[in-house]
Amino acid sequence: MLEKIYLVKHLSLKQLGLIAICGAIVSGCSSSDDFVACQQAVSTGSVVVGSGLAGDPAIPEPQSGYKLGKKPVTGLSYMAVTANPLATKAGCEVLRDGGSAIDAAVAVQMVLGLVEPQSSGLGGGAFILHYDAASKKIQSYDGRETAPAAATEDYLRYVSANDKTNPLPKLSTAFSSTRASGRSIGTPGAVRMLEMAHKDYGRRSWSELFNPAIQLASDGFQISGRMAAAIAGARADLLRDPDAVAYFLNADLTPKGLGTLIKNPDYAATLRAIANGGADAFYTGPIAQSIVDKIGVSMGGAGSPVPITPGLTTMQDLANYKAIRREPVCTTYRDTWVCGMGPPSSGGIAVAQALGILENFDLSAQKPTQIGDEGAKPSVTAVHLISEAQRLAYADRNQYVADTDFFPLPANGVSSLVDKAYLKARASLIAMNKSMGTASPGSFPSKPLGSSAQEGNGTTHITIVDRAGNVVSMTTTIESGMGSFHFTRGFLLNNQLTDFSFDPVDSTGAAIANKVGPNKRPRSSMAPTIVFSKAADGSKGDFLMATGSPGGATIIQFVTKTLIGVIDWKLDAQQATSMVNFGAANSPTTGVGGEHPYIDSSNSGLNDPLLNGLRALGHTVSFAAQSSGVSTIVKTMSPSRGSNIYVGGADPRREGIALGDSPI
Ligand code: GLU
Repeated sequence: MLEKIYLVKHLSLKQLGLIAICGAIVSGCSSSDDFVACQQAVSTGSVVVGSGLAGDPAIPEPQSGYKLGKKPVTGLSYMAVTANPLATKAGCEVLRDGGSAIDAAVAVQMVLGLVEPQSSGLGGGAFILHYDAASKKIQSYDGRETAPAAATEDYLRYVSANDKTNPLPKLSTAFSSTRASGRSIGTPGAVRMLEMAHKDYGRRSWSELFNPAIQLASDGFQISGRMAAAIAGARADLLRDPDAVAYFLNADLTPKGLGTLIKNPDYAATLRAIANGGADAFYTGPIAQSIVDKIGVSMGGAGSPVPITPGLTTMQDLANYKAIRREPVCTTYRDTWVCGMGPPSSGGIAVAQALGILENFDLSAQKPTQIGDEGAKPSVTAVHLISEAQRLAYADRNQYVADTDFFPLPANGVSSLVDKAYLKARASLIAMNKSMGTASPGSFPSKPLGSSAQEGNGTTHITIVDRAGNVVSMTTTIESGMGSFHFTRGFLLNNQLTDFSFDPVDSTGAAIANKVGPNKRPRSSMAPTIVFSKAADGSKGDFLMATGSPGGATIIQFVTKTLIGVIDWKLDAQQATSMVNFGAANSPTTGVGGEHPYIDSSNSGLNDPLLNGLRALGHTVSFAAQSSGVSTIVKTMSPSRGSNIYVGGADPRREGIALGDSPI
């Protein structure tokens, strides 16, 4: 049963009996502070998320490209930001009850796998960047999916050595065919990684963290706008899997729609098993067997079944899966330290390279305009400089970055790619008056490699700070929306292996670093990021902000935009998150997010001075909508309180919210 409490402004915490929470758990909590924990602020006070009362952000709304008027949320001592209100609530309540940031991340992931199944879940992979406030240690965790041991370099493009046709079902492109086959499915990594991080930094018991998701899965929840759109959009593909049909479609095979109350008892049972048995209950035994069986399916479809190429994943692949603790990529940027995820993600290196190149230009002189509730609109010069820096960064990414356990980076590795002198030389390739169009990768004394750039879209980002100041920045994914459309035991399986290059060599015959290999991890663009101020002696100082986003290869642009918004342009967490999206991968096209209210896309975009200014500099401008899902927390000095607070921003292009212990 959903709790129904409605707080109004004139009721103090003492009247509501909540001061006990403050006294019992919040260290340094001032009795003069009136705050609500983990509730959504509304004009009359606050409302319990999931109560169904006016102002409840969990009331399903039709999917909108961009929701106007999102306000920053303040947290006095903790905060969670995710792409779904029920998931944010679950994480926030763990923090409220004294849990750590990692504890909250476990609870959030389990709820997201239910209420935003199109984007992440048990069947996918993830990266966590964690900051431990007491030791000041920054640790990254790699829960990326792996190719099965039986995978050859042709695994994604050919059915077999004797049958050099694309995997089935036969769909309009090789990508979509492979994606919907068993070949795209990597051994899931999220569960093992969360268990590892929880062993390192968990404070609450593992099993209790599953309760919010088990309850929601058992009692049911209402299908949100984005989930409804994802089901409707994937209906034809879901029809191939009877388990997916039973869950996502109605008896007449129409998609379950917005607001439908949906229960997922299979998911609840899976969660109970993992809660009680740990990750082993997922990677061995009946759940693992169901995953292996599902990947091995060779025929699907109601009525007229179609052949599906099975994947070659075995029980051994699941039992052998290992999450990995890795060194984060940390570089200075102006008066901050920016830490990100290293290989097998390209995210941390590409963001660090773009920022390192931009350090050679005065971006603070390029302050955006229209700073306010909808973020800001960047100047022509700012978009020009930042997109040029990104072209150079993507050129290196496409050429050099892959799973370094299989293909080393050039020269001395990460340190060579983010070297300040190298990036200064790269910056000198930028002209103020003309776009370079397509950049060449930097040259290093190493053997020639082929280049690849392959992307997808089914991911979500979680940002959390707990009472002790520990931080989680976690990007979690099943790759494309609805993954591989293979569904078992209440969750979807990923199609992450399509992040590999389908071809092992390029047109010149040079080997591609990101080609498929047994037990190898596909290159990612996910860029969970944590930023620190620079201390007087130049070392890492206090936590400043954390952010990240879904968006395939465009993640690198969404994250860079948000970092520059806060660091160079002093925007608050919501403004930097809401700001117009912009940037470029390595092509002549510069994207400027046309979903944003500040972009005038009428008359083919010919009335907008930003778009026209970029065209005049030789950019090919796209103003297609950009579906970022940025979740940001910034630590800010509050002059009125005389202390630091957390300010959270959730992306207006998705349905998420920030929640914390907010003053009322
Ligand atoms: N699979 C992509 C990656 O790991 C993310 C896809 C997305 O953001 O939707 O980089």
